[in-house]
Amino acid sequence: MTRESEGFPSLSGGLYAFFFDVDGTLAAIKPRPDEVSIPASVRRTLQSLSALSHGAVALISGRPVEQLDGLAAPFHAPLAGVHGAERRDATGELHRISLPDEVVKQLHETLSSNINNWPGTQLETKGMAFALHYRQAEHYQPQILQLAESMVKRFPMLALQPGKCVVELKPKGIDKGAAIRAFMQEAPFAGRIPLFIGDDLTDEAGFRVVNAMNGLSVKVGEGSSDARFRLKDVDEVYSWLEQMKLQLDQDNLGKESRL
Ligand SMILES: [Mg+2]
Repeated sequence: MTRESEGFPSLSGGLYAFFFDVDGTLAAIKPRPDEVSIPASVRRTLQSLSALSHGAVALISGRPVEQLDGLAAPFHAPLAGVHGAERRDATGELHRISLPDEVVKQLHETLSSNINNWPGTQLETKGMAFALHYRQAEHYQPQILQLAESMVKRFPMLALQPGKCVVELKPKGIDKGAAIRAFMQEAPFAGRIPLFIGDDLTDEAGFRVVNAMNGLSVKVGEGSSDARFRLKDVDEVYSWLEQMKLQLDQDNLGKESRL
């Protein structure tokens, strides 16, 4: 069931595990994915939030882990990249799902030969996943979708992941919900209340997992969603992060003064 925006509850006193999508959540969307950045002040806030919550802050994104490190630096966080096909846990260990080399080769050949005929579209290769971007050529959406669907038929180990002006092909069984569930079984996330903020279709799997754990799911922007709460845009996410940091600071001070 889709529930529309409700007032944000007070998060005071709770022990939270924070999960953030990146593009459209921590970083404004740009015409090209390589133009995107997280403001330095926001990266510092994320670092503080992580320190205040014993490291229970992770990024959950469609981007590869390497790119996420670049975007978040100097904040070095636990990460799920490529919708969870790559996951670096809090100990620094990388868990990675791969596709057979022959499948990757054939996919790359077929996708690039098609994309080359559609000016303004872009193929992004992520190792075990492929993103077909059409932000600058939206009229190619039907062809892109058809191409992606034909690839899923040809390679049943793949799944389709639509997003904002992008269609991705990723290994089946991988999604942001599974990534959050995996983090929630490990320190320092285990035992905390999961909170996940995201803006796109790929985040819905994360919202559902968080809802099932009685956590807080937050959708950024408009559109139907399984998330229980809503923030209007990236700027509202930034203000919320600041408030959350102050809240955790106060909670920690409160604990110290009671000692
Ligand atoms: Mg996003």
